[in-house]
Amino acid sequence: MGKVIIIGAGGVGRVVAYKVAQHPEVFTEVMIASRTKSKCDEIVQAIGNPNIKTAQIDAEDVPALVKLLKEYQPELLINVALPYQDLTIMDACLEAGVNYLDTANYEPKEEAKFEYSWQWAYQDRFKEKGLTAILGCGFDPGVTSIFTAYAAKHHFDEMYFLDIVDCNAGDHGKPFATNFNPEINIREVTQKGKYWENGKWIETAPHEIHMPLHYPEVGVRESYVIYHEELESLVKNFPTLKRARFWMTFGQEYLTHLRVIQNIGMAGIVPINYNGMEIVPIQFLKAVLPNPGDLGTNYKGWTSIGCRIKGIKDGSVKTYYIYNNCSHEAAFKETGTQGVSYTTGVPAMIGAMMFMKGLWKKPGVFNVEEFDPDPFMEKLNQYGLPWNELHDISLGL
Ligand code: NDP
Repeated sequence: MGKVIIIGAGGVGRVVAYKVAQHPEVFTEVMIASRTKSKCDEIVQAIGNPNIKTAQIDAEDVPALVKLLKEYQPELLINVALPYQDLTIMDACLEAGVNYLDTANYEPKEEAKFEYSWQWAYQDRFKEKGLTAILGCGFDPGVTSIFTAYAAKHHFDEMYFLDIVDCNAGDHGKPFATNFNPEINIREVTQKGKYWENGKWIETAPHEIHMPLHYPEVGVRESYVIYHEELESLVKNFPTLKRARFWMTFGQEYLTHLRVIQNIGMAGIVPINYNGMEIVPIQFLKAVLPNPGDLGTNYKGWTSIGCRIKGIKDGSVKTYYIYNNCSHEAAFKETGTQGVSYTTGVPAMIGAMMFMKGLWKKPGVFNVEEFDPDPFMEKLNQYGLPWNELHDISLGL
């Protein structure tokens, strides 16, 4: 059906490449391009498909990226580099006439702040060029947003309360490691908490609100309200929501490490001078922490992520819980990476497939919940992330 280019060769890029390569009838030609070309070559070697092309690219260099895109002429670019590159990649896509998909919203390097305003501002330009931009097509954001759209379409007349619950019950055997890019991950989990209630955002101290929640086949885990980017688009696209929150589980050991990292200044994003050299503390920390892509070897256990929703159906109050449990070991066996990269890369491939098949194709910039969830949900079941539904149960919240 068409050519695709993947930008970024980390844990998520690896899974996207594996999954895309499994569907040559849809993705007829594939290129992986990233800052370090050897990482792209290593992925291609692991997949064992020499037809996949590789290239070196700095995705912040718009003219270089435009040149690469004009030469290769892909239909779609899958951006699984870092959130810092979203805007330069979107600029290059506009100039080269290439459609766009990502898994994380733009974040400026100099400020730990993520919101959709920067990318939503591209709406008119993508529309004018007849190009599609699909935002946030990983697991969360991504599948959680599609679960919500699916619930709205099939199970509710009006949704009032949405709680997205993200549990990583896996054990990688390291005292401290992050499951995806450490810099992005630590910036995300150390910021203030925020949730939506009665038409406004309520801010909390980091990790201020927490409670034990039960996760099917996993058990009870302490869960903390943090801010997560899909809340911003979901409350806009589902305006009946009176409250929307995001919960993530953290172990005590993880939180203790995080507190120490912050207290000693290692989570800092402002450059400091060290022996005449400018370094950013959190970037240095990334260099000494385990590489998330290498955690898979000994990773045991499951991730369990889903949406707990309460609202009205046919005049009665209804509760609904939709979730996926993903095994770190099974993910590693299939793609050589752990479950967090897997749960992000599989939806990115399925979103790309939706675009290639013309099911999710309309000029402009869209969050995933603005497309028809049904064909995507069907593919989740087929391609490694099957989901379960529970009706009219206690949501535990
Ligand atoms: P990694 O850090 O493992 O990989 C990032 C890749 O991007 C690396 O190969 C890196 O190159 C490359 N890169 C960085 N800067 C540039 C640049 N300027 N030009 C070209 N390539 C660049 O991250 P992950 O694979 O863990 O995460 C990838 C993305 O997925 C992130 O945006 C993350 O936020 C998102 N994500 C989304 C989730 C979701 O559920 N929605 C969950 C988890 C992650 P190099 O190898 O040289 O460093």
